[in-house]
Order: sequence, then structure tokens, then C-alpha cells
Amino acid sequence: MNAFSSLGLCGPLVQALSDQGYTTPSPVQRKAIPHILKGKDVLAAAQTGTGKTASFALPILQRLSESSPAGAGVRALVLAPTRELAAQVAERITAYGSGLSLRAAVVYGGVDMEPQIAQLKKGVDVLVATPGRLLDLLHKRELTLGGVETLVLDEADRMLDLGFIDAVRKIIAQLPAKRQNLLFSATFAPAVVELSNGLLVDPVRVEVSPANSAAELVQQSVYEVDWDDKPDTVRYLIEEGRWSRALVFIRTKKSADDLVAYLVQEGVAAAAIHSNKSQILRTRTLDAFKQGEVRVLVATDIASRGLDIAELPLVINYDLPRVAQDYVHRIGRSGRAGAEGRAMSLLSTSERKWLEGIEQLLKRPLTPEPLPFYDNGVEQPVDLSSANALGIAGKKTIKTVVRKSFKQKRNAPRKPDAKKGRVATKKPRARAGQSSSRKPSRGVKGTVEGSTPSKAQSPAAAPNKSNAARPAKPRRPSPWGHSD
Ligand code: AMP
Repeated sequence: MNAFSSLGLCGPLVQALSDQGYTTPSPVQRKAIPHILKGKDVLAAAQTGTGKTASFALPILQRLSESSPAGAGVRALVLAPTRELAAQVAERITAYGSGLSLRAAVVYGGVDMEPQIAQLKKGVDVLVATPGRLLDLLHKRELTLGGVETLVLDEADRMLDLGFIDAVRKIIAQLPAKRQNLLFSATFAPAVVELSNGLLVDPVRVEVSPANSAAELVQQSVYEVDWDDKPDTVRYLIEEGRWSRALVFIRTKKSADDLVAYLVQEGVAAAAIHSNKSQILRTRTLDAFKQGEVRVLVATDIASRGLDIAELPLVINYDLPRVAQDYVHRIGRSGRAGAEGRAMSLLSTSERKWLEGIEQLLKRPLTPEPLPFYDNGVEQPVDLSSANALGIAGKKTIKTVVRKSFKQKRNAPRKPDAKKGRVATKKPRARAGQSSSRKPSRGVKGTVEGSTPSKAQSPAAAPNKSNAARPAKPRRPSPWGHSD
């Protein structure tokens, strides 16, 4: 018997999973699906990357396909904190439900409401929504929630962090009292427990992993780098390591734009994703990154929440997050679905206190290492014993090796732009220490994601695939094996 059928899932769902290449349920799927199928409330501690979406989507689809509507309108409602997560969850639900005649839709802000209204009018069984847009639609009386049989709060901790609690409570007030409730959260922080106490009835608790489990699948390095050397270091790591793709996290929207401008100027296809970008642009940028047209995606924490990018080999922390938990979320973008990942963090002197917080959360030290050397894209082993004063060794490396590597490149004949077949033009660039509008500013000067937005809108970088980029590793078919 197929491992998914033994959880009680029906033929069309098992078939859809097999079409996706999924043969083995993940731990959260094994633990949650049988309870959700029975109609129980579930409180699950599971991060993105654990297969949590399928763990609620599959049993919800099955239950809906087996029963007739209890009321009018939407029958299952999934609330997600960000637009990207909502879009991805809806996309997964559509894929898993391809063999069933159920209709799924997604509504989120930042885009025209009319097409969403038109879709709702056609009838929707499963609705995925961000709280703000759903409230707007409810105020306009464009849908009714009186027929909701199952409510899912996805990434509930993030929902609370982002201040959606009032909106969530207003939405819940419009649901029928008798319903199934599922709450998924990366952590059981006190605020999450409080929310769940008022929401869930006799819930089954599912806890697949401690908060830092994603981090265990990812090889992590910390490099001490002067703040002004960070743009060069990012470029060095990506180019010399011949990474096919990298996601760079950065704290402020302005420094994200500046880093992208710098990388593009240096011939690296890069684009930024943050909350000042229109939703259409964010979606387009993400698609270009997933297609491999954009090699480096520079993202702020909020915009990147919930991003599910298969085969993301490298995450770089341009700066260290102030909230230690964000470090785990950031590096968890790599090494998803059980695959191995790589995370590199650039540490400037002023960020040591943030590193300590991260070490406390991970319950292990993250000792700075010298910057890696690469030979034809292959990282060379570093003799740590000879690299005394490790941090200093790291700083020396960037001053000598990194710049030497760029100098050699500058003297080498130009490579044509892979996509457009033209020679990339290179503008003169300010050296470190000189002011340059193209270099990212110090994080403190920019606008932190989530604070007052500006009107700036810049398009994604022109796609430019590097000839030197190595292909992404093939995905492993059964990432979770059979053990918990
Ligand atoms: P999630 O934690 O829901 O964001 O899922 C993480 C990734 O794992 C997504 O790309 C899913 O499509 C994928 N995934 C979910 N379930 C399985 C499975 N049983 N086997 C392999 N991959 C899966």
C-alpha cells in the first residue's frame, strides 16, 4: 500500500502526490493528516519546509470532496500572513486537488480586487486569503463565510508578529461556531498559545521538530567582514563559488535596492523583493528567480516570509537579523524539503550582539571562519588551526583575495551577456570608503521593512545568466525517509 494511502488519503490525492514526485509523507504529514481527516482540531508546530501545507491541504480537500456543502459559499478558509505565502498555498492546493472537482482561489492585497471578486462569484470551495484583503471583501459583502467548515491559521506566529490579530479576530467572528480549526505555527510562543486556547477545541498537538530543526540541515558559516566590504564579499562568494542561485537577506529596503544596483552594475543578474515593490513586480521577480533568469534575489525579511523556492542552494545573510528566530527562517529557505543547504552570514563588528542571540537560540556557537577560497567553483578546505585570529584572517581575505579575484576578472576579456548576446557594460565603481550611491548604505540608515513605505519602484534586473553558474543539484525524491 502506498504510504499516503495508508494515512487514509483517497486515490485522486495519492495520484496527485505521485504526479508531484512525492512518495513518502513528511513527519508532520504522517502525524497530522489522520487527525484532520477525522475532523479533529489540530495545533501544529511546524515550520515552512517541513511539508506542512500538504498536511492540512490534503485532508481538507478529501473531507470537502466527501461531503456536500453545509451552507453557501466558501467551505474551507486558509489565512496566511503574506501575499507570497497565500499565493503558494493556493498553488499547492490547486495542484493537490487536480483530480477532484473542487474550486480553490486566493485573495490578497496590493492587486486589483475586481478579478478576485469575479472569481468569488463563480463559486469557491477553498479560499486562501491574507487577513486585510479578506476583511475588505467582507466589508463590501462580496462573499460570505457562513458555510466555512474548516479554518486554517497558517504561520500563526508570523500573523501575530505582523499585527494581524485584530483582523483575524474580526474574520473569526463571521465564521460559524461549529467548525474545525487548524493552527500551524513555527513556534508555540505564549501569544500563539493564547490565541489557540480561544480558538481550538480539544486540539491534538503535533510537534514535529524543535524551532531550529531547519537549521540543522543547513551548513552554516559566519564570516567577519567590514561593513563597507559586504557588497564585494557577496559578489565574491556568488561568483567564485559559481552558485547558480542565491537568496540574499538584508534588513532595509534601501540597502536591498542599493545592493541590487551594485550587483547589476557588476554584471550579476539580481533583483530585489520588498514591500515597496508592487505585488505584480514581486510576483514577476520571484518567477524570474525561480526560472533562473535572476541569479541573486535580494530580500527583506517580511517580503521573503513563506517563499518556497525549490533547489535554493545558498542563502547569504548580508546582515544579521535582530530577531534570532528570523535567522532560522532565513537559512531555512535553503535546505528545504529535506535537501541540504548552505548559509553564509556576513558579520560586522557592530553585529556581534545579534550573533550571540542566534547562538543562544541554536544552542551552539557559530564561530567566524576565514572567507572560503574557491578553485573552479569548488570550496577549498581551510586549515583552521593555521588561521589564528580567525576574524582577522577573514578580514584580510576580503582585502586581498576578493579584490585580486575582481582585478583578474577586469583584465580578462569580457564575456557576452548570456541572455541578450551583447557585451555587458561596466561603469566605474567607487572603492570602499568612498561614497557611492550604488553601494548599499548601512542598515541603520535605510527604512526597515515594515516601517513607512516609500513610493520607490524599480524593475527587476535584466536577466543575465552567468555562463559559469553550476547547475542546481537535482532534487531528492523522498527527502524525509521513513524516520521522524
Ligand atoms: P511546506 O513546508 O509546506 O512549505 O513544503 C515544503 C516543500 O516540500 C514544498 O516545496 C512542498 O511541495 C514539498 N513537499 C511537501 N510534501 C512533500 C513530500 N511528501 N515529499 C516531498 N516533498 C514534499
